[in-house]
Amino acid sequence: MHHFHYVSHTLFCEEVPLSKIAEEVGTPCYVYSHATLVHHFRVFDGAFSSVEHHTCFAVKANSNIAILSLFGSMGAGMDIVSGGELYRARKAGIPAKKIVYSGVGKSIQEIDYALSEGILMFNIESFEELERINERARELGLRAPIALRVNPDVDPKTHPYISTGMKKNKFGIDMKFALEAYEVAKKLDYIEIVGVDCHIGSQLTDVAPFVEAIGKIRELVNELRRRNIDIRYVDIGGGLGITYDREEPPHPMEYAEAVLNAMRGLNCCFILEPGRVIVGNAGILLTKVLYTKKTPTKKFVIVDAAMNDLIRPSLYNAFHAIWPVHLDPSKEEEVVDVVGPICESGDFLARERPLQIQAYGDLLAVMSAGAYGFSMSSNYNSRPRAAEVLVRGRDYEIIRERESWKDLIQLERIPKWINL
Ligand SMILES: *Cc1c(COP(=O)(O)O)cnc(C)c1O
Repeated sequence: MHHFHYVSHTLFCEEVPLSKIAEEVGTPCYVYSHATLVHHFRVFDGAFSSVEHHTCFAVKANSNIAILSLFGSMGAGMDIVSGGELYRARKAGIPAKKIVYSGVGKSIQEIDYALSEGILMFNIESFEELERINERARELGLRAPIALRVNPDVDPKTHPYISTGMKKNKFGIDMKFALEAYEVAKKLDYIEIVGVDCHIGSQLTDVAPFVEAIGKIRELVNELRRRNIDIRYVDIGGGLGITYDREEPPHPMEYAEAVLNAMRGLNCCFILEPGRVIVGNAGILLTKVLYTKKTPTKKFVIVDAAMNDLIRPSLYNAFHAIWPVHLDPSKEEEVVDVVGPICESGDFLARERPLQIQAYGDLLAVMSAGAYGFSMSSNYNSRPRAAEVLVRGRDYEIIRERESWKDLIQLERIPKWINL
């Protein structure tokens, strides 16, 4: 469900025509719907209302502080994977006690920052990290609350780049060594064991792999409790998929039911780390046609957004629907590649896609771009990053200004010994 819809052949976000935003803010530009964000968060969080839980939004999916702050105002915590994300979350007003910290490569500087802020827990991914965090906590005279991220070795049946819970992935501690790792953790003076964590991948469209992973987690929690290791939090990660094309992922209610059923009787506080399912379909990338071009084998529509703005098609061969902002029922469709201005053949937003005939100045909406869109964008080809806009009813606000050419070189210096 989202709030991007046509009103007499013109595409609106809530009550604002996208053409108005293109005119006033320019393109390319990310546009998010406040009503959709709120609805998605409420539905997901509400699905777990029968149990004690924290919904910790995965900051990497969409890191704009306005959006983090919006979720915070609805009670959300955050799942972070870097010191930068912790900084964002805190600036957005999220209490440290609702922040969990995942990731295989936490630096000393990041660990110290998270310890001094007093986060809810570190999700630890290796024996060495356990030792490192113990050391840093001792240094700072604090105790580090931790969960071990275990790798349950289940196949999430998603793109290999975004599957994280299989034996061959870099994430988590192998199930076989989990008990040993908890025994080690128990003996460390500056570590306080508070939970168990897993996250098996992203864009899952079936509940079965979640249920399989939870079965293994549940056994582990029971065994830990038998060994007098107190487990208060069970973090089952994120990963619920969305509809980009024809996928039929489970509804959050269905997901919650399956998860809660698999966890029944396990007395603990659940932590959920949804990202994509909350923000994915709440945002679009608005772009303008620059040129059309025919080659002997193809038709290209060249737009002003590119792989630096939205890398998912290039990186994962991901599908994003493309909707014309103005529908013209009299126009025919033709099969085109929608590509950006970047000097790479991998720079495309859609391939072999039927689309109404386009011309210079026409606007297109690249749908389902709210997750892993702007947050993965870069300055490649020295392209200033796009603006971000949040629509609410009849109004909108710019929540991130478009970068300027000056911004591009802001941090660069020419050494004095280069004489031009
Ligand atoms: C990326 C990530 C998430 C969010 O994944 P989604 O598929 O966007 O829900 C949650 N937890 C961890 C540890 C992650 O790395």
